[in-house]
Order: sequence, then C-alpha cells, then structure tokens
Amino acid sequence: MRTDIKRTALNICTYCNLKCKHCLAFIPYYNNPQMMSYEEAKKILDVYFRVVDSVEHFTVTGGEPLLNAELKNILGEVFRYLDQITGSVDLVTNGTMEIPEGVLDLFEENKDKSKIVLSNYGEDLSIKIRNIETELKLRNINYRISKFYGGDQSLYYGGWIDFTDHSLKWTTEIERDSNAQGCVHRLGKYFVINEGELHCCSRSFWRIKNSIIPKVRGEYVPLMDDSISIEEKRRLLLEMYEKKSSMSCAYCVGLRNDVPRVMPAQQMK
Ligand code: SF4
Repeated sequence: MRTDIKRTALNICTYCNLKCKHCLAFIPYYNNPQMMSYEEAKKILDVYFRVVDSVEHFTVTGGEPLLNAELKNILGEVFRYLDQITGSVDLVTNGTMEIPEGVLDLFEENKDKSKIVLSNYGEDLSIKIRNIETELKLRNINYRISKFYGGDQSLYYGGWIDFTDHSLKWTTEIERDSNAQGCVHRLGKYFVINEGELHCCSRSFWRIKNSIIPKVRGEYVPLMDDSISIEEKRRLLLEMYEKKSSMSCAYCVGLRNDVPRVMPAQQMK
C-alpha cells in the first residue's frame, strides 16, 4: 500500500530567539534544547523518504531554523527529494533574522517548488521582516506572510490556542475521536519529525517526551530505530494514518475553530 501524505514538518532545532508562551511546539519549555546536525538530518531524510512515497508539503522549522548553522546544507538535502515532494518545500522563520545568501540561493534555484513562510509578530519582535521581504521580492522567491499582530486576535485565524494545560479532557474514545475530528492537525493528517521520530503533532511528541502519556506502538514511527524494517515503519505510519485520534488527543483541546484564542507571541520573562 502506498504512503502518500499531505504534510510533514522537520524540526531542526529546539532553540529560538523568541520566548512565545503559547508556542505550538512548547519550545521555551525545553530544558535541553537540541540542534540537529547535517549528518543527523541526512539520515532522517533518507529513512523518511523510504517510508513515505510522497508528501505534498515538506516544511523545515524549529524553534527558529535560522539559528541552525547547518540550515543551508540541511535544506540542500531536502531539495534532493523534490521528485517525492508534490507541492513545495517550505521554510518557516520568525522575521527576526536576515536569511543567509546561500539559503536564498537554494530557494531561488528551486522557486517552482518552494516557499518561505514569514511569521510576522509586529515591529517590536519581527524586526527584519521588511528587509527580508524586499530581498525575496528582488529574487522573485515565493513567500507568504502570516500576520500575528493587530486587529482582533481573538478570531480563530489570528489568535493562538493555549495548549499548556495537559490534563485529561476526554475520557471515552467516542469523545476523544469526536473532538480530534475537528482538529486541523488530525483532519489534515499532518505529521512532525522531532528527534528522529515521526509524530502526528508536536503536542503528541511533547506529551510522550515528558511522560504525560506513555510511549506506545502505533502512536509514532521511530525513523532512526534500525531494528525496525522500512516495511514495518510504513505499516506503523499507515496505522497512525487510519486512526481517528491518538492518545494525546484525550489530553488536548485540539487545533479547532471553536476553541478560544489567546494573543499570539506573548513573550515570557
Ligand atoms: S487534538 Fe491535539 S493531540 Fe490530537 S492531533 Fe490535534 S493538536 Fe494533536
């Protein structure tokens, strides 16, 4: 059976130069942030693209990915798999740092199948966003700006969700499935790669990492575990794909349109 998936995000560092209280990936709460090396990324991508036949959008993210000094080489490796990426290679950055020339060159060379996503947290935080936009326009590189300031941030498309309450919320499988079926992550079949493991979202990864929920088979794909064959990893991915919800969804409000919003990018002290 084929493994054609919609979207995967590769987290290449859990360092960030901002401290957003409601970060979807809980980056400010990491005690031991990690920086992925080029060699690690190469191994992960090699296994990932044997497990996955095709992916529509492949995103490189963090933390803030520009803090990873090997970003250009890692992206270069991602672009090697363009024949399996049907949509685009995306890079998400927070508009606080200029994008290095070498990285821009890669996006310019592959402009038909790539995009830079700039998170704009306003002039006080995303201080380089205008310079970056000017450079992207000059080079005719595809980009999108996600605006997270001004206006009514309580609206679902502008505000963020507070996922920091990890208490049990749905006690039956029917409740859990029903709530998760309104979650953008679950419905869109998004996946994330964190520390060499494929998870259905960063909330799930975080809850397993911090023993809020147990680590059980069928809830993640251990890409770097050589004792498990590629075929078995494909089966695990398909198992995750078919479930209506995961254990993490029982502890989660979900990325749903009807969940109250909080002001984006609130900085922790
Ligand atoms: S409900 Fe929560 S844990 Fe489940 S997929 Fe959505 S964001 Fe992830």
